[in-house]
Amino acid sequence: MMKKNFLPQQYQKNSMLKINHSYLIEQFSDYSKIFKKIQKVVLKGDYTLGNEVDKFEKNISKRMGSKHTVAVGNGTDALFLVLKAFNIGLGDEIITTPFTFIATVASIATAGAKPVFVDVKDDYNIDEDKIEAAITKKTKAIMPVHWAGRPCELKKIKKIADKYKLKVIQDSCHAIDAKYHGQHIVNFADACTFSMHPLKNLNIWGDGGFIITNKSDLAKRLYLIRNHGLINRDNCDVFAFNSRLDTIQATVANYKIKTKLNNITKKRIFNAKLFDKELKKIPNVKLVQRDKNLKEVFHLYQVNVNHRDKLKKFLNKKNIDAKIHYPIPIHLQKAAKYLKYKKNDFPIAEKLAKTTLSLPVHEFINKKDIVKMANYISLFYNKRYYK
Ligand SMILES: *Cc1c(COP(=O)(O)O)cnc(C)c1O
Repeated sequence: MMKKNFLPQQYQKNSMLKINHSYLIEQFSDYSKIFKKIQKVVLKGDYTLGNEVDKFEKNISKRMGSKHTVAVGNGTDALFLVLKAFNIGLGDEIITTPFTFIATVASIATAGAKPVFVDVKDDYNIDEDKIEAAITKKTKAIMPVHWAGRPCELKKIKKIADKYKLKVIQDSCHAIDAKYHGQHIVNFADACTFSMHPLKNLNIWGDGGFIITNKSDLAKRLYLIRNHGLINRDNCDVFAFNSRLDTIQATVANYKIKTKLNNITKKRIFNAKLFDKELKKIPNVKLVQRDKNLKEVFHLYQVNVNHRDKLKKFLNKKNIDAKIHYPIPIHLQKAAKYLKYKKNDFPIAEKLAKTTLSLPVHEFINKKDIVKMANYISLFYNKRYYK
């Protein structure tokens, strides 16, 4: 039989697991308040790019310090549409990292351009000192990923981009509310793109995404190409795409921004600090070196550990939903074969893929959970359960 849908495992909440990575039910325990707001939308028949979408775009611009916000269908479209808005396609090269979610690279490939990888550093982010060597006459943009919500070295990246006249398109899907040296990340970008998928920090009831930018020309182009290139009902300026944010999803997002997002960000940062404190005592666990100039928002809390696969199994047995984001770097995926990369091309990304482990860090995790996780990890190494 043809496989139609692939349901992420995390949707099937495992009642056995006590400390879960996802918490899709708890996220919206106050759903009845949102239903009331959606009722109004339905009664008005205001379904796509409606009033709530306008409001949403204003809310995000204010929060993220951008001149413009363009709401779109999802985070992958956000990246793709920015590339299209810049007329990036066949014959062009875009620099990014192999340590990311596939959508980053897929957006480049589906836009018709060639993804060119640069290795990461131990903090999972692109190694800014290796970018220049990857630039060719065909390079059009750098696409850094703020992995796990930790901002990349934006000053250096921007400087390189300016020198070679490249665009900076930041995949910020993990990085809502992140800051770099006290500044909004959009100040170092042509565009930053975000996802509101149910598993992201700012999450809604399905797919949704947005782009922030300070460039009015780009915003204007994006407003056009997310909606068939139409300037009004009858006139089309350019053949384009349909990637509109549903009014219903914008309603959910507005509610979430107003009532939850501050706490989500604060709690993730708080939990990560606790984790750092508890885990740094354990010799087999390597933490990401923190930098006080970076406001990390911990979409993921990742450590690098010895005997990773055995530790993961051990924790899972103890009802802790430790996960791996991700075990295969993109250059070694089947889909990337045509790019002709091989093993050892990006040693740090490959090493991290073998040692990284993500521990639940979301707003429903408390101090007791964190101490418990740390104690189990400590026990695993003390008792040599990896033998
Ligand atoms: C989630 C994610 C995307 C894609 O977002 P969707 O809304 O699922 O399309 C892109 N890049 C990164 C780094 C992501 O985590």
